[in-house]
Amino acid sequence: VAAGAPDFVQRVTAVMLAGHGDRLPVSAFPVDGTWPTGTSRWEKRTIADAVPLWDPGVCIQCNKCAMVCPHSAIRAKVYAPEHLDAAPITFQSTPYRGPGFDGWRYTIQVAPQDCTGCHLCVEVCPAKDKSNPRHKAINMAPLAPVLDAEAANFGFFLGLPDPPRDRIARLDVKNSQLLVPLFEYSGACAGCGETPYLKLLTQIVGDRLIIANATGCSSIYGGNLPSTPYCKDDNGRGPAWANSLFEDNAEFGFGFRLGVDSHKHQAEVLLAQLAPQLGERLVNELLTAEQYGEGNIKAQRERIEELRRQLLTLTDPRARRLEQLADYLVRKSVWILGGDGWAYDIGYGGLDHVLAQPRDVNILVLDTEVYSNTGGQASKSTPIGAAAKFAASGKAVGKKDLGLMAMSYRHVYVASVAMGARDAQTVQAFVEAESYPGPSLIIAYSHCIAHGFDLAHGMDQQKLAVGSGIWPMYRYDPRRIDAGQPPLQLDSGAPKESVHEYMRNETRFRMVEKIDPERFKNLAAAAEEFAAQRVGVYQQLANLVVPTPQTNGHANGEAEVEAASTNGDAGE
Ligand code: SF4
Ligand code: SF4
Ligand code: SF4
Repeated sequence: VAAGAPDFVQRVTAVMLAGHGDRLPVSAFPVDGTWPTGTSRWEKRTIADAVPLWDPGVCIQCNKCAMVCPHSAIRAKVYAPEHLDAAPITFQSTPYRGPGFDGWRYTIQVAPQDCTGCHLCVEVCPAKDKSNPRHKAINMAPLAPVLDAEAANFGFFLGLPDPPRDRIARLDVKNSQLLVPLFEYSGACAGCGETPYLKLLTQIVGDRLIIANATGCSSIYGGNLPSTPYCKDDNGRGPAWANSLFEDNAEFGFGFRLGVDSHKHQAEVLLAQLAPQLGERLVNELLTAEQYGEGNIKAQRERIEELRRQLLTLTDPRARRLEQLADYLVRKSVWILGGDGWAYDIGYGGLDHVLAQPRDVNILVLDTEVYSNTGGQASKSTPIGAAAKFAASGKAVGKKDLGLMAMSYRHVYVASVAMGARDAQTVQAFVEAESYPGPSLIIAYSHCIAHGFDLAHGMDQQKLAVGSGIWPMYRYDPRRIDAGQPPLQLDSGAPKESVHEYMRNETRFRMVEKIDPERFKNLAAAAEEFAAQRVGVYQQLANLVVPTPQTNGHANGEAEVEAASTNGDAGE
């Protein structure tokens, strides 16, 4: 582990990483079973042969490289120029181009000991040197000659202050990557298609994030022993994370929601009871504060600080209880996540049950279309023609349309995203889901080693999945119903690319062709037809306006979400 790692990491984590955990005495472990988080930052694996190096002269500052990095190993930062005084000699920076930070500097920096050399960032970088189009704004270079200098540069980069969250005006691809990731250096496969979504989630939601994680890849790289990738910000705050089983994770996360709401309700009751001592103004503001947007969250946190100062002066025992509960007055964001094996198959009953409630939970399905880490079996998300365990000759039927099933409730926000096809749509869907006060579901296309291709091209393959109609992108937002607009917005057009070409790029399809070319031909034709029909259905749905009470219709779902929010049952 890195020099300077905390005592626990040196004494316990390092020993386990070296494979000698069985030599540790029981007394080495925390008495209460707690386990330090954010320890993956000390596990300097240094496994890449080559790492990306930045050329600020070519860079257009889009931050797409940071967005796609599965390991949070390339980062963007804006900072005031005076912080550069002590910069290492090889540290690079350039004037920032973008609103809100006039005169500030900008740096893209790689973490050379944490980069896996997966190439994804270089593949997505759109900026090329006009005089030499092979030279991009980041280019892979052998690690050995630059390791020491880049490690020092990354250390300096981490020490630069991060821009305050409330200074990031609008959450888009570029700005989201200026926020600190609270998920870093996970042990996922090099080039993994799942982890960029999780990194983005921690950037968008920050320390208000509470995660219920189903068993699967995301629970393994998310809560690996001995090192954990979920970490804290400079204020010592970070996401709360816990893992449950395939079969009950949605209910597990739903319990988080109930618990958070109950604690918040208790805090509100105590606030009302102590209002004469605390002052009506403060209590009123705490109870009615708008909590969407970082500026509003910051203002609520400042009120809670004021509340804590006042509580210190009170001897009433209720003040002690309110001190314990005060943080629940900040809006928490509960996310229930896992893979398709959980969401489509084993945990589907619970997931459906949770979607059927009007509570504010967010469900993220990291869809690799197969049980990945957990055995390689076909799931109900596995597409036509793909080989997997229990579908060795290629799956004969189409995948379940989880999104369409969720839309049938009408009160559920549903999005289908593919970061490699359109990253802006992904960010938009996450922001919309987080702000929706009822249940939301995001289904995220995730390329995976189980698909059988070089994951350096993962984002291109996502583009092909969308372009061929295999993976339509959309957002279904119940809030649009009241505005008289079609709730479904189709974010991808009619299929233009070849389904055959998409399938030929991946071994999971090609192996079927190798074994039985005739069967593959039929399956590929069926896949093409299935994709075209699916897109056709969505195109029609995207034109549908749902009748509202004004037009004598009855939008039950929305009415319930609204009523529950007002009662403090949904939302916060
Ligand atoms: S090569 Fe891969 S791991 Fe390394 S910085 Fe780029 S995207 Fe991240
Ligand atoms: S993707 Fe390329 S152009 Fe965009 S910020 Fe990264 S290095 Fe610069
Ligand atoms: S098996 Fe697939 S989903 Fe799992 S960590 Fe590897 S690439 Fe990611």
